[in-house]
Amino acid sequence: MSWEERIIGVDELRPYLSNESEPDFRRLVQALSEQQLATWPMLRDAVAGLGRVEYKRLSARGSEVLAQFNPQRIVSTAAKVDAAAIKQRPCFLCAENLPAEERGIAFGADFVALYNPFPVLPRHLVGASRRHIPQTIKGNFGTLLDLATDLGAEFFVAYNGAACGASAPDHLHFQACERESLPIFREIETWERRDLSNDSGVETFTLKDYRLNALIARGNNRPALIEWFDRELNLLAEITVAESEPMVNMVVTRDGDLWTVIVFPRGKHRPDRYFAEGDAKLTVSPAAIDLAGVLVVPQPDHFSKITSRDVEEIYAEVTLDGAAFDAWSRSE
Ligand SMILES: [Zn+2]
Repeated sequence: MSWEERIIGVDELRPYLSNESEPDFRRLVQALSEQQLATWPMLRDAVAGLGRVEYKRLSARGSEVLAQFNPQRIVSTAAKVDAAAIKQRPCFLCAENLPAEERGIAFGADFVALYNPFPVLPRHLVGASRRHIPQTIKGNFGTLLDLATDLGAEFFVAYNGAACGASAPDHLHFQACERESLPIFREIETWERRDLSNDSGVETFTLKDYRLNALIARGNNRPALIEWFDRELNLLAEITVAESEPMVNMVVTRDGDLWTVIVFPRGKHRPDRYFAEGDAKLTVSPAAIDLAGVLVVPQPDHFSKITSRDVEEIYAEVTLDGAAFDAWSRSE
């Protein structure tokens, strides 16, 4: 099946739309949810499974972290993402390999919004490129901003770098979910800040003694944000001596005419505990959603034993350490 056949139009979604002559993207995405739940049993089961996930409230350096017991996510948490494994498997984001029932909404000329059959949060979408091209943020950050705009304030959008959390490093894609349950969006409004700069229409800051190092930017000027981001990505590549794209995860929201961009620079992909044996083993593999405060734990025994101390250590281990982060965030 090609993307042309996968993409569902207003006529086919009509039973799930009220009498709107020209529904916007957000309404189409909502109607797609209803259409997919009615016609795609795998998604229906997955959404029912999401209703049964358990949460454990933890605290890392005073910040709230919700450990989420979500057995459906083992496919992603334990995904083999080395080059050899990726080469051998059929790409699960290419149109010809999706389940027959999976349909999408066109987002611009190059992307399609699809429902993720392994959701972490409600209304978990994937914005996949129509082309099988590598995961990279360079040149695509504007699309991330646009997706946040078109989905509106109930959603956040996310990017996971090819080497730090994307389970399809070979196929360009973003994610989006409802934002309500993610602790970081509440905390960035109340946590003590360190202001960095406020020029060219972009305000930047970090959070003091937060559970991880994050660089936050706010602005309503799309070209200025893109210029800011390109500059930061280049600086990060220099500071971390990255051979290709520096490791980053990001979440982006849009309120009114204001974007908020949270960048999590990474020190490493998976924590040592992921590879440990016996009691020390913890199958967690943090990406954007985990760093934003919902840490997915697919194994029941790991969920029972994980503590606030463990998550504190894991966040510190996988994100960029203090000296490198300071050099980066203060160099702007
Ligand atoms: Zn692909």
